[in-house]
Order: sequence, then C-alpha cells, then structure tokens
Amino acid sequence: DAVAQVHQVVKRYGSGDAAVHALRGVDLEVRRGEFVAIMGPSGSGKSTLMHLLAGLDSPSSGEVWLGEREIGALDDTALTLLRRERIGFVFQAFNLVPTLDVIGNVMLPFELRGAKPTREERDLIGRLLDELGLADRLGHRPRELSGGQQQRVAIARALASRPRLVVADEPTGNLDSRTGREVLALLAGAAANHGQAIAMVTHDPVAASYADRIVFLADGRVVAEEGRMEAERIA
Ligand code: ADP
Ligand code: ADP
Repeated sequence: DAVAQVHQVVKRYGSGDAAVHALRGVDLEVRRGEFVAIMGPSGSGKSTLMHLLAGLDSPSSGEVWLGEREIGALDDTALTLLRRERIGFVFQAFNLVPTLDVIGNVMLPFELRGAKPTREERDLIGRLLDELGLADRLGHRPRELSGGQQQRVAIARALASRPRLVVADEPTGNLDSRTGREVLALLAGAAANHGQAIAMVTHDPVAASYADRIVFLADGRVVAEEGRMEAERIA
C-alpha cells in the first residue's frame, strides 16, 4: 500500500569539486493513511526529499516510485499529469496565484485536471474553507490576505481534490499555535479517516507529534525513525 517510495536515493547538485550531496542514499516509504513527519537540521536534505516525493525533481541515482510508477521512467508530460492527479502541495515556493482569488486558487487543481469538482468535492471544499477560517475571504486575492491566511489557502487547495499524497513543507510555519493545531488535526484526519498519505517537513516537535511516524535526517541520511518501528517492535 505504498503511495510513495524512495529507494537508495542519492541527490547531487552540481558536479566535480563543487558538487553538493543533498541526499546520500535514502530509503523512505509512505503508505496509504499514513502521516509521516520529516525533521532534521537546516541543510540536512528535507526539502530535497520533499521535492523528489512530489515528483518535482529526479534523483541522481536510486528510484522514486509514486504508486506503481517509477518517475525516472516517465517523460515530463506523464510526470506532470501524475502530479496533478495524485499529489497536493503545500510549499513555500509554490505559492498561490496572485491574480486569482481564494476560491480560484482552491479550484486550480480541478482546472488543471480539466475536471469539475463532484458534488462531494464541492461539499468538502466548503467545509475546508469554513474550518480553515476562510469562508469570508473567498473573493480576496493573496496580497489582501495575511501570511497565515495564505498558508491556509494553500492547505485547502492541497486537500480539496483529495490527492493520494499530500506533501507539505512547514505547513504551520506561519500560523499561530491554535490555528496550527487545527491544521495538524485536519492533516491527521485526512490520513486516518480518508486514507491519504501525508509527508510533512517540520521543525516543530509539537507538529511532529501529530504524525504517525517521524523520520530524522542529518547530512543527507536517515539517522533515526520514531513511530512505526516502535509499533512493529511491540507487535
Ligand atoms: P533542508 O531542507 O533540510 O534545509 P535542503 O534539501 O534544502 O535541506 O538542502 C540540502 C543540501 O543541498 C544543502 O547543502 C543545500 O545547500 C543544498 N542544495 C539544495 N538545493 C540546492 C540547489 N538547487 N543547488 C545547489 N545546492 C542545493
Ligand atoms: P465527520 O464526518 O465526523 O466530520 P470526516 O473525517 O468525514 O468526519 O470529516 C472531518 C473533516 O475532515 C471534514 O470536515 C473535512 O474538512 C476533512 N477532510 C480532510 N480530507 C478529507 C477528505 N479527503 N474527504 C473528506 N473530508 C476530508
């Protein structure tokens, strides 16, 4: 039931003496219904790993599987389609479209797929916007919103189309602690109740405590894991 798998992945930026090894042989699997937090010091390779999981970049060696497809075997068009169908992003750098209002941004994944939301999906979008405190902001453009509101729009957008995998880089970074907890509970519920797989980078141990499993990176390697290993040891 792996939604995303990374096998012996090495990621190098640049070449020769100037090469930077961002990942040095990482294995990771995110299963259906599983919420995984990724922690580690700055520069340890967290963002690189998230980009690979999201199919936004390819490894220097090793394999990245999204469901039953290995991304190295896909051309750009196929990979773009796969991303649109299966993955929701909450990334600092892949922000909102400035010319679209809140509802336009949240509907964007449907537009890109060329699919109208079903009635069930429309209900979900309404609930998400409500729960994220955005119901009275639907006609606002990103620049008319606070950083925290923009982050919540990105979260609504990532969940609205019910992707199999949600990849989130510091999704609560701009939120006050109460709103942050609400967002984390929403992500945990999307995994536990709706079978979505969630991979989240965070620096915040409280945020990580919402996850089923915590993977610690240091210097491009997985150095520790907490959660499922304990569960498996006990079982
Ligand atoms: P983290 O998210 O844990 O801070 P990153 O994945 O951003 O770590 O970075 C891991 C290493 O790779 C760092 O040394 C960083 O400087 C380097 N790196 C990341 N992206 C690039 C890039 N596009 N070009 C060159 N080096 C990069
Ligand atoms: P309940 O029906 O008891 O409210 P649900 O788990 O069905 O419990 O819904 C709780 C919340 O989970 C919803 O209000 C919605 O915002 C959120 N949610 C997150 N992801 C999904 C999803 N894929 N499908 C439906 N609801 C989702």
